[in-house]
Amino acid sequence: MKIGVLALQGAFIEHINILRGLGVEAVEVRLPEDLAGLDGLIIPGGESTTIGKLADTFDLTGPLREFAEGNPVWGTCAGMIFMAKEIGRDQPLLGVMDIVVERNAFGRQVDSFITPIEISGLDEGQTDPFPAVFIRGPRLVEARGDATVIARLADGTPVAAREGNWLVTSFHPELTDDTRVHELFVKMVGERGW
Ligand code: GLN
Repeated sequence: MKIGVLALQGAFIEHINILRGLGVEAVEVRLPEDLAGLDGLIIPGGESTTIGKLADTFDLTGPLREFAEGNPVWGTCAGMIFMAKEIGRDQPLLGVMDIVVERNAFGRQVDSFITPIEISGLDEGQTDPFPAVFIRGPRLVEARGDATVIARLADGTPVAAREGNWLVTSFHPELTDDTRVHELFVKMVGERGW
């Protein structure tokens, strides 16, 4: 199994390190040819406008969209924004997942927080909450069609969703030492029978 991490901008090294720690081959993706032979892709947090503009500049947006149509993709934070079909403003998006997202819905950098949340499907039988790190994260306004909310804050705000092969989280599992969301994604990739 080989998983790519979009490495245009943002927290890509952290994802790569966790994947390698789990024994999964992980590579940086910067050019369309880097997608060849990948079984899954992570789009990291960072700045979604920058990621979108750089993807356009390197002619990656089309190939990324094509890859996403047939493969597991997980977007964290800015990656979640980039994957959404609707964000209520004009900026370059992959726009594959049937979710409505609001950027910067939890305030500024100084308003960053960490909170325990339940994520359904994370680990059978175990109920340990996951430490969710929020840094200028987006809010999931609506999951439409086949998209399903899999985690909420205590006040009910949805912060993670799945739709088929796609996973999105408003928060940053790569900034904790809890590897369970990465394990969930590796399982999603593995279930496709690589
Ligand atoms: N605020 C950023 C954006 O709108 C996302 C922040 C993050 O990825 N930590 O793209």
